[in-house]
Amino acid sequence: MSFSTLGLAPSLLNAITEIGYQEPTAIQRAAIPAILRGGDVLGAAQTGSGKTAAFALPMLQTLLAKRGGPRRLHGLILVPTRELAAQVGESVRQLVSMLPTTYKVQVVFGGVSINPQMLALRGGTDILVATPGRLLDLIDHNAVRIEQTAMLVLDEADRLLDLGFSEELHRILALLPAQRQNLFFSATFPPAVQKLADRLLREPTRIEV
Ligand code: AMP
Repeated sequence: MSFSTLGLAPSLLNAITEIGYQEPTAIQRAAIPAILRGGDVLGAAQTGSGKTAAFALPMLQTLLAKRGGPRRLHGLILVPTRELAAQVGESVRQLVSMLPTTYKVQVVFGGVSINPQMLALRGGTDILVATPGRLLDLIDHNAVRIEQTAMLVLDEADRLLDLGFSEELHRILALLPAQRQNLFFSATFPPAVQKLADRLLREPTRIEV
């Protein structure tokens, strides 16, 4: 099984080759074509499954397909912790660095000074990886606008809820445009996680690996 059968554009296939991935993982085989079709996706996947590239590759493909206009937030990736934010941001930046077009990827999380993050967000960003509380702080400071986000990713949704981010998530969801694509990843699906997925997703493609 090769990456070339998943519907990815040549520039992304080149990026994958440069990075050195030989074959797609199970979640990538299932999720990439589903995300490229434009619908919502519900993925049951653990860390280490390759889920970051599973959502980042199609996110970059839809970003590449956009033409011109002012820079608007294309993809918002919500994560539970600073460590995951840094890790996801690094993976997405690595992919972006292999593309013919330059895109801005910013990573924001709490527990550190907000000012450098506000400065970094000046002029906008294409992809934002954020923990929910800090994202709301930045929105309150008018440092970022999320009203036109095309794609939302909830990564490790179970941990987002375990860490008490439910209220923040609902505030963020209320600020996002109704018209958007939602990708929801979680290792486990206790009732609260399922309820959030039910509220967020429209006829999702379900993927279990
Ligand atoms: P993740 O589950 O997204 O945290 O990814 C786990 C690790 O697998 C990361 O170090 C990725 O760089 C790596 N990885 C992702 N996709 C592939 C692939 N198709 N082949 C080899 N390694 C991969």
